[in-house]
Parts: sequence; C-alpha cells; structure tokens
Amino acid sequence: MSSLLSNLQGRKYAVLGLGRTGLSIARALKKAKIDVLVWDDHEAALEKARKARLDLCNFENAADFDGVDALILSPGIPHKYPQPHPIVERALNKNIPVISDIEVLRKIDPETPLVAITGTNGKSTTTALIGHVLSTQCDTQIGGNIGVPVMDLKKPKKDGAYVLEMSSYQLELTPSLKPKVSVLLNITPDHLSRHGGMDGYIAAKKQIFASSVDGEKGFAVICIDDEHTVKIAEELRADENWQVITVAAMSERAADITVRGGILTDQRAEITIDLNKNNRMNGVHNHQNAAAAYAALHYGFDMDEKSFEKAYNKFGGLKHRQFLVRTINGVPYINDSKATNANATARALAGMKNVYWIVGGQPKEGGLDSLEDYADRIRHAFLIGESVDAFAKWMQLNNIDYDISHTVDIAVAQAHQMAQNRRGAPGGAGMVLLSPACASFDQFTSFEARGDHFEELVNALEENV
Ligand code: ADP
Repeated sequence: MSSLLSNLQGRKYAVLGLGRTGLSIARALKKAKIDVLVWDDHEAALEKARKARLDLCNFENAADFDGVDALILSPGIPHKYPQPHPIVERALNKNIPVISDIEVLRKIDPETPLVAITGTNGKSTTTALIGHVLSTQCDTQIGGNIGVPVMDLKKPKKDGAYVLEMSSYQLELTPSLKPKVSVLLNITPDHLSRHGGMDGYIAAKKQIFASSVDGEKGFAVICIDDEHTVKIAEELRADENWQVITVAAMSERAADITVRGGILTDQRAEITIDLNKNNRMNGVHNHQNAAAAYAALHYGFDMDEKSFEKAYNKFGGLKHRQFLVRTINGVPYINDSKATNANATARALAGMKNVYWIVGGQPKEGGLDSLEDYADRIRHAFLIGESVDAFAKWMQLNNIDYDISHTVDIAVAQAHQMAQNRRGAPGGAGMVLLSPACASFDQFTSFEARGDHFEELVNALEENV
C-alpha cells in the first residue's frame, strides 16, 4: 500500500493505539514518507513504536495537533462510550476528524470493489467464506477486523476486490467505505456499553449502508432473522442507493433467499443449493452465513450457483468456532472460544446434547440470559473466570449441576474426568465444550489465546482415566 499512500504526501496523521492495526498503519505511513505521530497508553506498545523509529507524541496539549489532518484510531479504543479516550476528546475539540485505517484505505483506493461484512455474530466466518469463494474468481484481499490490518493487504489486481470484516466501531470511523456489497448478518445485544445502549449499537451497524458507490446501486444483503434487521431492511428499501436482498435462514420469514433444512432457495432465480454437503458449516447459524455469502457473490459479482457451490463445499471453517479438537474414547472435545456472548454460545448448544460445558470469563451485559432454553442440553457445567459467582446463581436457577473450576486448566481436567467416567450414561457418551459466552480478557489476551490453551490441554489429556 505504501506506493498508493504517497498520494497523501503533505498530510500529517496521528495514530492512537499501537496494537496490530495501529502499528501497521503508522509503519505504512512512515514508509511512504508521510508525517505521522503515534501514541499508546502502554509502555510495551511504545517500546515497539520506538523500535520501529516512529515519532511519539502524547497529545497532552492542543498545540500537539497543529497541522494534523486526522486522528487514526485503533479498533480497541473508545471514541464515544462509555467515554471517549482523552486524546480523542482533545482531537474532536480541535475539529480533527477521527477515522479508522479502513478510511485511509478508501481515500487512497476508492475504486476497487469492496464487500463489507458486519453483524453481532458470524462476521469472521462469513468474511472468510466470501473471501475463499470469491478468490476462485478474482484477486481477493481479505482483512479488516479478521486479522490482517488493511494496510498490510496488497491492492487487488485488475477486477479484484477487498473483502473486509467490519466491527461497529470501525463502521462509525469509516465514512468513505462505499461498499459494492454490504452484508448485515444479525443484531443482538453485545458491546452495548461502548455504544451507549442498543439504539447506539443499531445505529453503528446501520453505518454499513451509510455510503454507497457513486453512480451505481450497492447490494445490501440483510439477514432478516431478528427484528432489528427486519426493520433496517424495510427502511433501506426506500433508499434508492441500495438494492436490498433479504435472507432468512434462522426464521420462517419470507425472504428473497431462504434456507430450510439446509437447502438454500433463491426465490428470485429458482436456484437451490444443498448447504449440508459441507460438514464444516453445520448449524442454522452457519447456514445464515453461507446464504449471506451466496447472496453477496451471486448478486454483487454475478457468480453462478455451480461455482459458488463448488467453492463452498471446499471451505474448511474457522478455528475456535465449534472446532473439533480431538475425540477421546468417543467423547468429542470442542473449542468454541470465539463464543464471547450468550447468543454465540446458544448456536453451539442448539446443535449439541449431553454437554460438559466450560463457561465463563469476563461477562457481557445480560450474562447467560437466553440460554435457559438449552438447560436440558447440559450434563454439567464447569465455571471459569470473573463470572463464577453470577453464573453459579444462574446454574442454580436453571437446575444445572456445576463445579467452580476458576481456570480452564482445572475445568478441562474435571470435565475430562467426568465425561470419561460417565461414558455409559443414558443418552450416550456426551461431549466436552468450551463455549465461554464471555470475553477472555480477565484471564487471557484474546479469545485465540484462550482457545489455543484449551487445545493444548486437550491434546495433552490421557486416554486412560
Ligand atoms: P464474529 O466474527 O462476528 O465474532 P465468528 O464467525 O467468529 O463471528 O463466530 C463467532 C461465534 O458465533 C462462534 O462461536 C459461532 O459458533 C457463532 N456464530 C457464527 N455465525 C453465527 C451466526 N450467523 N449467528 C449466530 N452465531 C453465529
């Protein structure tokens, strides 16, 4: 991207937050010889910046912003709620725009077609799936929230495209996104404290439809399986910048594309596809993701159903999402560390029975609410993390047997022992599931670190208990 960044010669940027994304954009700007000042509240991050020979500035005084064209904010830093970071506040007071790295990408490359994917759950899976399938047709660069910061991507070759996972924070900071295709998967309560409540969260998600490609209609793929997205689809139909394509995979609603029993039907084109053929994409939630991907590619990129189906069948799924780590004496051990809220855990429990459930961490608003319906799926729970007391009460209310394990290490050892001892129980051998319904930050640096640790422990388990 550095060569394209040189179009920004003469500008000056500030970067706040030096995680993967912040460091990536700061390095790219410096390489393109564009003025950039950086800051992070953590010494370890500052040290990395010093090593990269970046110019540090803690923006304590308004004068530090003199000549700065925009403040580029890392995804983890609040720009509004619960309260803006003081540096963001100072920038806003000086009328300096606060933007994301993706906004910078669209400034230097507004032309390349872009698919943007958002929603409370399923973003990464859908982004990876769309990227995988589209790359069979053209040069596809996959990134954003899914792991590769956009400045580390290459500009796609002629007729290529970007496929970007977008969090609600990134959407709010990217006014020039202009996607050719926008995919909205679902909206359920999550991250509410960072959006000032549900209305703020919905407003942030709607930003995916705020800008569209000049002179042509964008394709808005909206999964209308929850009431919030139904409303958004209705509103957007009145907007002449968008062509709306609705998908219903987890409800019986009428839609342009429906999935029933794993069979996708495109009502507009009389096409059917059997989604059950890929056993890495089990569950109605994954069928929602797959149907959204089909809609994005068939309508946005003219992909025929046979090409979609062929590539879809080869998609291997993503780690940490209901991922089978190992089967010991007929008992599967499943890593669903990515389930950081109750709704995502509901998707796992909905497809399982006789579960030895490892749950807990840094709880989200609402805790385990909505999982009551799955109480009969659980044989025993093992509680970990900050949420142990609150979740113990919930287990009592729902008549679920539990142990307070505190750590994943103890929980895996206990769950293994119990699951192996009770293999002959009525109903069958059961399964061990890490699906925390919580963020990981109380005990781990990320959900990946939590899932990797679980996998290490499971891989070290003895077969003979
Ligand atoms: P995100 O990137 O939005 O967090 P992922 O694809 O990483 O989504 O999946 C996160 C979790 O949500 C996984 O545990 C998965 O089982 C569950 N999940 C995936 N797709 C959906 C969906 N469409 N609806 C609800 N839950 C989903």
